[in-house]
Amino acid sequence: MTSWDDKQFMRKVTEPFLKSWVEAGKESDFPIQNIPFGIFNTPGETARAATRIGDTIVDLHALSMHGFFEGLGLDPDIFNHDTLNPFIALGKPVCRAVRERISEIFGETNPSLRDQPEKHPAILFPLHAIQMLMPVKAGDYTDFYSSIEHATNVGIMFRDPANALLPNWKHLPVGYHGRSSSIVVSGTNIHRPKGQTKADTAEFPEFGPSKQVDFELEMAFITGKKTELGQSVSTREAEDHIFGMVIFNDLSARDIQKWEYVPLGPFLAKNFGSVISPWIVTLDALAPFRVPGPKQEPAVLPYLQSEGDHNFDVQLDVLIRAENQPEQLVCHSNYKYMYWNLAQQLAHQTVNGCNINIGDIFGSGTISGPTPDSLGSMLEIAWKGTRPVKMHDGSERTFINDNDTIIMRGYCVNENLRIGFGEVVTKILPAIPIPEKL
Ligand code: CA
Repeated sequence: MTSWDDKQFMRKVTEPFLKSWVEAGKESDFPIQNIPFGIFNTPGETARAATRIGDTIVDLHALSMHGFFEGLGLDPDIFNHDTLNPFIALGKPVCRAVRERISEIFGETNPSLRDQPEKHPAILFPLHAIQMLMPVKAGDYTDFYSSIEHATNVGIMFRDPANALLPNWKHLPVGYHGRSSSIVVSGTNIHRPKGQTKADTAEFPEFGPSKQVDFELEMAFITGKKTELGQSVSTREAEDHIFGMVIFNDLSARDIQKWEYVPLGPFLAKNFGSVISPWIVTLDALAPFRVPGPKQEPAVLPYLQSEGDHNFDVQLDVLIRAENQPEQLVCHSNYKYMYWNLAQQLAHQTVNGCNINIGDIFGSGTISGPTPDSLGSMLEIAWKGTRPVKMHDGSERTFINDNDTIIMRGYCVNENLRIGFGEVVTKILPAIPIPEKL
């Protein structure tokens, strides 16, 4: 649960009236209240940690070298790594102290860096001059299936409309262990995967490029505190173990998935590329946007019961940009629809004693909403190919074509404040040909 101290901290850093001397427009996902963390580099330099205000990248290692984190007891090189893992490992109190210090340094009235413009070129970079990299080294990746609307739609399409949810679905957050090696940062383009598929009418499978590449609109949380084998994390403790969240495009090849998934679940249809947004937004920054989750009926087992609000009102957009065309909105959903919340997901992941590490990634599962414009995958939007999407250029989509770019954006907004994630962008490139015979 959130302590009084936590609340005091969050008030200090997320107060809507705070302003920075670094410009961030009203429409920016990155006002001074956000202070996310990422890894970046500039030409000829090594990768290091950053935060972002508006469209300005703040080099945290350079801030450290200039003494701006003095008194916090940090290793001066803590931000001089190509992943955030060493910083995250210091724990939430240190992360909070760093966010609070950044909030002070960049506060509108603080002259300490503002009035030393000779230091700015070493510390502040325009967005166009840098490249964002994978923010963490993820040892493990779990993908849940926690949107009731998505699970129901898939059940209706592939099984039985009258029994769309399998009997276990409302009793545990269904998930599987994915592969972390192919999780990449926004801006990484992915080649269409090749694999085995089998048409319903065919006797034997065939091999070739997937004809049904799809996106899955997800969010993911990243763990910031490890556990030992045998240890379980309760729903009450779960958020202490969560560093922050990203948007997550879990690319899928539906035709490969359909043939391969029985009986052990997803495999090559799901591990050819999953793409995350580069900025990890802390749960503290998201706190003003907490909302209750849907009522869980029937009641869940005691180890899955959670108190307080663990859902977040994050608006999520998916757009497709065909080559040389403007982007086109195909989905507007929201993370608040999640039936199973992140505390329940982490409690379930660890209830058997499975250990977790810093930097592990946990996908929410496709986030569909209750309306036809809020479906989080092409599988649902085009309803198994039966309702093609009309594109600006007159072409139709039932899945993703070669050279289509998929863009996902996520942001929280109320009358006073906007906290966002930026975007996840990836282009689907044609399959890499392989020789017919080896
Ligand atoms: Ca998924």
